[in-house]
Amino acid sequence: MPPHTRPVFAANWKMNVGPTAAAAFVESFLAASPTPSNGTVILFPSALALATVRHALALRQDIRVGVQNIHAEEKGAFTGENSAIIAADAGAAYVLVGHSERRHVFGETDAETARKCARAVEHGLVPVLCVGETIEQRERGETEHVVLHQLRTGLSSLSHDAVADVIIAYEPVWAIGTGRTATPEDAAVVHRVIRAALVELVGEPGRGIPILYGGSVTPVNAAALLGADQVDGVLVGGASLDPASWAAICSAGTT
Ligand code: PEP
Repeated sequence: MPPHTRPVFAANWKMNVGPTAAAAFVESFLAASPTPSNGTVILFPSALALATVRHALALRQDIRVGVQNIHAEEKGAFTGENSAIIAADAGAAYVLVGHSERRHVFGETDAETARKCARAVEHGLVPVLCVGETIEQRERGETEHVVLHQLRTGLSSLSHDAVADVIIAYEPVWAIGTGRTATPEDAAVVHRVIRAALVELVGEPGRGIPILYGGSVTPVNAAALLGADQVDGVLVGGASLDPASWAAICSAGTT
């Protein structure tokens, strides 16, 4: 797979958009975005809509697809789960790991995110490792500590070469689905800390790792966020559910 051209625009549809709606979404989105983006566009549909989305994108191989989660084990008695092997076989190229809803709703630990990142890489998926602090942690001045701990632990099972191929998403928990967005400067402060940690971890290749911002990104604020220092793309939930809004976000910051 060719490297991710920045900016990276990633759409997390969460538990929305079934196969029927996904086919209609792709049709409308392609009509609104008839030419490839200057950046990299990645859709994260429900695993059950992945095949439909891939089929609908048959003529637009520039748009990539991923899954929202994998299990850390390769296979076995884990009813309802999907493995990295199954996701790759179904055509996923990326996987979200450690999304705040996985951490805070499903109790996913840092140790599990590390195992999932390792499993993803082992089977050729690019992990998009999500990190971010809660509002309480931010108010206690713990943002840097929390984010760096999640980052270092999540990447701890990967070789340096593998780390250089991941994507990081900084998603402050207080900004996800709340309509409350970090300012571009808020985002830049944390992105600089993440960048420094990545360079410390793997040297110069750490400068090439895309760091996305996520949290109530909309067509109105996307360009300003993409203009912030060290912000290499966006991970978008709510505003990615409407094809016109998603098309507008995908054209922000690329002209
Ligand atoms: C997300 O789910 O990763 C996200 C950032 O959601 P929203 O854009 O709705 O805040």
